[in-house]
Amino acid sequence: MEKDSLKVFGSGKEIGASCFLLSLNGTNILLDCGMHPKKSGPEALPAVDFYSSFPDVGLISHSHLDHIGALPLFFRQIQFYASKPTIAISRFMLEDSASVQERRRYEDPQNFPEPLFTEKEARKASKSVKSFKRSQSVRLRGNVNAYAYPAGHILGARSFYIESPKISVLYTGDISLFDQITVPSAEIEDLKPDILIMEGTLGLEEDAASRRVSEIRAFASEVSKILSLRQSVLCPTFALGKTQEMLCICDKLMSEGRIPYVPIVLAGMGKRIKRIYSMFVGGPLRTSCAIEIDLRGNTSIERVLEYGPAIFLMTSGMAVPKTPSYKLAKRIMTEDKNGIFFVGYLDPESPAYRILNAQMGEVVELDGKGEKAVKNNPNIKSFRITSHSDKNQLTELALKISPSKLILVHGDAPALDALKNRLHEKTDVLVPSIGETVELD
Ligand SMILES: [Zn+2]
Repeated sequence: MEKDSLKVFGSGKEIGASCFLLSLNGTNILLDCGMHPKKSGPEALPAVDFYSSFPDVGLISHSHLDHIGALPLFFRQIQFYASKPTIAISRFMLEDSASVQERRRYEDPQNFPEPLFTEKEARKASKSVKSFKRSQSVRLRGNVNAYAYPAGHILGARSFYIESPKISVLYTGDISLFDQITVPSAEIEDLKPDILIMEGTLGLEEDAASRRVSEIRAFASEVSKILSLRQSVLCPTFALGKTQEMLCICDKLMSEGRIPYVPIVLAGMGKRIKRIYSMFVGGPLRTSCAIEIDLRGNTSIERVLEYGPAIFLMTSGMAVPKTPSYKLAKRIMTEDKNGIFFVGYLDPESPAYRILNAQMGEVVELDGKGEKAVKNNPNIKSFRITSHSDKNQLTELALKISPSKLILVHGDAPALDALKNRLHEKTDVLVPSIGETVELD
């Protein structure tokens, strides 16, 4: 029989397209099936190699595209399992991914390859995923069982504890070890696997998550300043997770009297996902002050700003060209009124990063195709409101679980190395690259 092993197809020394093949007791389990967020076409797919061992089953940790984006290419051959909310959200995420791929190809065929799948295939793929049983477990082959545990992070996110008669493995997926309003903390600290496969997105940020309370306080104070001048705040937010969490945060701040009571205007994909969150989370998402608008086509920015004073929660989080947040940011950055508050991770190549970091009066290249605007707005700031555990929390988790082998994935090399440096004296720490196979016993 083959040795127990973990093959890394994606997310080795980068965030990239999460995808691993875990082989235990002759059973092959595909962990996640993501798409690289910064690549397109076949290059965005995980570097799968099923030559020597084909997956018997697939487990999806959550519905961010870097974990489910490649599902439409594999669902016909592999039976995937995920939590019910993940299945519900995955349909919207995959359909949207298909339509974005199609639009990009149509508008810029030189730079964008043929779409990897259609909206119809996206729908079929999400429908094909089975949910876990009531016990949150899946009986695999060869005396191997998988159990799903809440992972925090976003609605539906799960970590997987997988055991054979010989060895046990915990795959964290993306985790938050603190309560958010929309999802409580992960529940994995008391597990005792032999092998821990842990994400390391924030491996370089000591206390990004524990600063949450003070960041929200600072956010509230700055939002108040702008709203009290009867001006508006744009918060570019990721469609899945951040939009819904920020909606709850803003609603809570209003009900506690910490910011003025104003409309919260939603535009973009976050609106659709909010409906699924409302089904599973309920209460805090049924805020009365949310207004949903459509910013496609030729809706004028003037008309949108007439909702003000308001908080605009608009996708995308990094103000990617053609999205609602891009359109509004392009206008607000040139004025000396209203404000733009970023609340998530900003890739250095994104328009959001360039807008935030430009000097006053600087001409900012926005879309890489010649669209420019001058930054004249002093109220462009960023606040760290994350849904990932930080370096201190990840370190604490690894020390508490104390596995005989710790495999670090889903983080840039410096982030994973920083975690390794802190933990290597306590346990055997591995940071595999894409294409590498790690033996587990
Ligand atoms: Zn995620």
